[in-house]
This record gives sequence, structure tokens and C-alpha cells, in this order.
Amino acid sequence: MTDFPDIASIRNDFPILNEIVNGKQLVYFDNAATTQKPRIVLDALSGYYEHYNANIHRGIHHLAEKATGAFEDSRRRLQKFINAELSEEVIFTYGTTDSINLVAQTYGRKFLKEGDEIIISTMEHHSNIVPWQMLCEEKGCVLRVVPINDEGELLMDEYEKMLSEKTKFVSVVHVSNALGTINPVAEIIEKAHKVGAKVLLDGAQASSHLTIDVRALDVDFYALSLHKIYGPTGMGILYGKKELLEAMPPYRGGGEMIKHVTFEKTTYNELPYKFEAGTPNIADVVAAKYAIDYVDTLGKPNIAKHENDLLLYATEAVKEIPGLRIIGQAKEKVSVLSFVVDGLHHQDIAVILDNQGIAVRTGHHCTQPLMSRLGILGTTRASFAVYNTVEEIDGLIKGLHKAKKMLG
Ligand code: PLP
Repeated sequence: MTDFPDIASIRNDFPILNEIVNGKQLVYFDNAATTQKPRIVLDALSGYYEHYNANIHRGIHHLAEKATGAFEDSRRRLQKFINAELSEEVIFTYGTTDSINLVAQTYGRKFLKEGDEIIISTMEHHSNIVPWQMLCEEKGCVLRVVPINDEGELLMDEYEKMLSEKTKFVSVVHVSNALGTINPVAEIIEKAHKVGAKVLLDGAQASSHLTIDVRALDVDFYALSLHKIYGPTGMGILYGKKELLEAMPPYRGGGEMIKHVTFEKTTYNELPYKFEAGTPNIADVVAAKYAIDYVDTLGKPNIAKHENDLLLYATEAVKEIPGLRIIGQAKEKVSVLSFVVDGLHHQDIAVILDNQGIAVRTGHHCTQPLMSRLGILGTTRASFAVYNTVEEIDGLIKGLHKAKKMLG
């Protein structure tokens, strides 16, 4: 095990970790659902409301200018975070789900037609299934699904076989929330581009663990949520290549996304505002910058190393629990440990862990088709973040022994 530099001081940055749950110190292992927020993000939120709360872009008073500056700073910060070429390629949305819906409802409705094929995979989150199903229903497109092996890895041969001149769009998850699998996205993109298809990556999980470089990937669209990267809930981004975003019609209509409105005809605003109708989530966008600064200060490779060490430790440690089977054993994976235990219901396990102050997630993780493929109803999932420790994993193992004793 490496000692992450100053783990105690990192934990001090997260006030919520001092909470007492059921008489015990909170152990938070539900990071794939949402991460906790460091003090610097909480201060940015209250700082905005206390000192410069104002609506953005159109105001000419001091507060409006300050709020607008902070909002646009955040956009440039996120541009750098994903290495986009231009800040107008970064659209603020309500999160990954919203970003994917935006692409399906604008690019999809305009450019896809009956008989066109859209490829997703077996391990998609519902938010990367349902928007495409809705589009297929409306336009008569065909949804194709890349299968996986029992370890939870995509069958790339099958993917290649699926690709043809009919393939117009590929939308796959970069990192699986239920299994932790890191997908070979560079290869997926390259192969899709060879048949002329566009590619969207669902980066909801990847963005907190991996370095994201949209230009190196040459990906067409990238969706992520800030609440999974130590930032606020209710906001995320859609990255899109400028020429694609420009060719797409607007998503929602209203203020901000227009240039000029008459009853006869409306002209739309330039990028990125064309896709940002109405008053955005200003406070959360402003605070998001601080979350990214926080991650970058610690260094993503350092965070990834620490999380990977925790994953390896936990993967070894759970072997001592009789009847426990890890779900998702890909060669390339992030710090998500999903498992089932013979004879125990995942929800009962979670209740017993919660009694020990340990927060894990159970159920289908919004991946019902994946659960069906694996022949299970759900899993118990412990997912690790920068502030987690080996001692906490030891507590999890103790809790699992207890669950086994009580329920087994
Ligand atoms: N995709 C994946 C892989 C996820 O893990 C999640 C959230 O759990 C989402 C999409 C949806 O993200 P959000 O609820 O922030 O829109």
C-alpha cells in the first residue's frame, strides 16, 4: 500500500466525514453514486450567494459582471480539464443524463433516420439506453447492443462485426458504474469513425478516476456530471466538437439561447449559449471550478493510484468472506467493488453495514439489462474515493462477517 500524501489532511477537507451514523463514524463507500464535497466547494457555494449572487450575461451592474466572470471562468476550467480546444465546445447541462438527452434529441432527431443503427453496450447506465430508445421509437432507428464476457468486458470482435455503413452513432460508457470496467474507448472511437459514425462517451464515472483528453481521443461528444468529481449536484457538461454543435438545432427554447425574437422568426444565439436556455445553475457552475482545482491540486494520477491500491486491498480482503463473488473482474477497472454473497440478499447486507455506519449502494445500479445478462437481481457495491482508507475497508470486512453471521 502506498501512503497517499496527507490522507489525514485530505479527510479534514471533507466535513461530512465527521458525521456519526448509527453511533459510528461514517464510512462513505457510495462514491460511484456521488462523491462528498470538500470545504473549498462548500465555501464557493455560500461565497457566491453571500457576495455576488446575480443573474448572468445580461446585467451591467457589478454583481452581474462578477457572477458572469466566475461562470465563464468555470467553463474555461472545465475546457482545460477535458482538454477541449475551445471553451464554446463546453455546454453546461444538468448532468450526464441531460447531456445524453441533449445529443439524442438534437443531433439524433436531425441527422438520424429510419433504418440507421445506433450502437450501445450491455453495460450501459439507463441514461445511455433510454434516450436512444426514445429516439429509435420516434425515428425508426435500430438499437444494437455490444455483448460482454463474464468478466464484464466488451466483446470487441462482436462490436467490429456490428459496424457497417448503417452505423450512424455509437454511444458507450467510458467506465461502468456497476462493474468498474474501463472500456477500450480509443479503439471504439477509431473503429466507429472508419464507418463514418459519430461517438458519444458517457464519462460519468471515468471523469473522477481517469485523465480525460477529448482531443487525444478524437471523441465527438463527451458527457459528465460534476457531482461525481467532488463538485455540486445538478450540473455537468456536454463536450461536443464545434462543427457538430453548430450543425445541431437547439435543445430547449427560451431566454439566453436566442439572438433575436419576433413572432414571425427567432434566430438562435451562438455557441455555447444556443444550448443553455433559461437561468442556469449559476452557483453550482461557479463552485464546480473549485472541485476541479481540488482534484488537479491533488493530482489525478495520485488519486488514481490511491484508489487502485484500495481496490487491490479490498479485492484480496473480501476473499475471506465465504460465498462472496465479485461481479466485474475486468483487467482494466477503477475502484468499484461490486459483489454478491451466496444466500444473502444485497439489501439485507446494506442494512447491516449501515448499522455500522458504512454506506454502500445496492440494487441494479440503473443497469437492469446488465444485471439480467449476469443473471442477478443486483449487487452490493463499495466504491472508493480519494478520502477512503485501508482501515475503513477493514471495517467493511468486519461488517460483512457480521452480515454473514446474522443472515447466513
Ligand atoms: N452514466 C453513468 C455510468 C453513471 O454512473 C451515472 C450516474 O450514476 C449516469 C450516467 C447518470 O448521471 P447523472 O445522474 O448525474 O445524470
